[in-house]
Amino acid sequence: MTETYVMAIDQGTTSTRAMIFDHAGQVVSVGQKEHEQIFPRAGWVEHDAQEIWVNTREVVGMALGRASLTHEDIAAVGITNQRETAVVWDRETGDPVYNAIVWQDTRTQKICDELAALGGGAERYKDRVGLPLATYFSGPKIRWILDNVDGAREKAEAGRLAFGNTDSWVLWNMTGGTNGGIHVTDPTNASRTMLMNIDDLTWNEEIAGEMGIPVSMLPEIRSSSEVYGEDRKGGLLPGVKIAGILGDQQAATFGQACFEVGQAKNTYGTGNFMLINTGTEPVASENGLLTTVAYKIGDRDTVYALEGSIAVTGSLVQWLRDNLGIISSAPEVERLAAAVDDNGGVYFVPAFSGLFAPYWRSDARGAIVGLTRYVTKEHIARAALEATAFQTREVLDAMNADSGVDLTELKVDGGMVANDALMQFQADILGVPVVRPQVAETTALGAAYAAGIAVGYWSGEQDVIDNWAEDKRWEPAMDADERDRQYRLWKKAVTKSFDWVDDDVQ
Ligand code: ADP
Repeated sequence: MTETYVMAIDQGTTSTRAMIFDHAGQVVSVGQKEHEQIFPRAGWVEHDAQEIWVNTREVVGMALGRASLTHEDIAAVGITNQRETAVVWDRETGDPVYNAIVWQDTRTQKICDELAALGGGAERYKDRVGLPLATYFSGPKIRWILDNVDGAREKAEAGRLAFGNTDSWVLWNMTGGTNGGIHVTDPTNASRTMLMNIDDLTWNEEIAGEMGIPVSMLPEIRSSSEVYGEDRKGGLLPGVKIAGILGDQQAATFGQACFEVGQAKNTYGTGNFMLINTGTEPVASENGLLTTVAYKIGDRDTVYALEGSIAVTGSLVQWLRDNLGIISSAPEVERLAAAVDDNGGVYFVPAFSGLFAPYWRSDARGAIVGLTRYVTKEHIARAALEATAFQTREVLDAMNADSGVDLTELKVDGGMVANDALMQFQADILGVPVVRPQVAETTALGAAYAAGIAVGYWSGEQDVIDNWAEDKRWEPAMDADERDRQYRLWKKAVTKSFDWVDDDVQ
């Protein structure tokens, strides 16, 4: 038998990738394409869902072409995606009725405030869905589209519109779109809508009713690892089974082999997302973490996680590049930050979308504090990088408090872990070792594993564990007093970002 491979489609916030993996979990080839970030107003972030679908087809072609493979060499395809980002499309025409509203978008603040005012405040739905009311999640974004796009509500009520995160959008198109496309999601994505009962993985009709969302728009919730359908005839992967869906952060948790209770990973991408496996029962957080589904393989028990989500980390580096122009590429931030010995007293709180975990303060906005005549752009660059490490420390503290045990090391992945100085500073500020695996593309890898397990390409989690290998480890080297001093100043800086937004967010 000739060797076969598994493909993952990683529909991320900044780009779409197709990656082909071999049986050892090694990357064989990659196709990648960025899509436009659309900022129509302060606080609004959109993507063109059609552009994403065109890019998906292109990157699949690139990945196959670069490895000289065809669909016959691919045993299964898995999908992983930016979560919460809401696409609403017309089932009859296949066209989105509005741009995708991205997870970072804050336009739904008013909708969230109104729902909170019905009673219970931000915790109104928390015991049922595991999440606080926040602009981050999909449900209020769907509501906004139905309220603001001409004719959308009528069409939705007539059953013509479909909603999905980008997993469902890509899957529906891959399986035929208007010509028999299947409308499905997995519990990790569904757990980010604010509409799914966290205990039994069903849509909550009462909450959907309160948000004014017809349940007919919602995808069917299947497991994260099973055959959903096949790629359409005429596509690049005709007849290939699509057999795994995991939201990006859950996919990375899977790819990092966090299968035991207490195992955690932290992904450093556009934002940062730390997940800790909590086993087969959902655990409620008392420290600002989200209760979420980690994965569900076929008809086996659901595995849950606690998650600390940080909105802005790598995107702050992009902001230095695109908005301030003090660097011309992301890796250049390393050189700039290394030109000074310390942050010069500057702390940068990147509350561009308010603050997510552990604060959930939508009234916060970004702040650079500690400025003096001494401060240079090098200090600002350094403070921007350090912000990622400090925010991560806050989330780790919350996880330790919620779980009652202290994490002894942290597995990391994502675009920013290429930054050696940042990873050393991270270990220093956490006081525990930071460990990077050999295959840093754990998000795509996790989706590939979910699909490969469903079709018997891999036998199960043990293969994932066997394939995982350490690449590099950073040990904490900072003295404890210095660590405490810097962390204390960071926490003070955070308080300076609070209470900024005081007028109507429209
Ligand atoms: P996503 O999957 O969220 O699109 P990635 O995991 O690809 O993101 O990570 C890309 C992010 O990493 C970008 O926001 C970029 O600014 C940041 N980044 C890339 N290289 C570096 C670097 N050397 N130092 C710091 N940040 C970096």
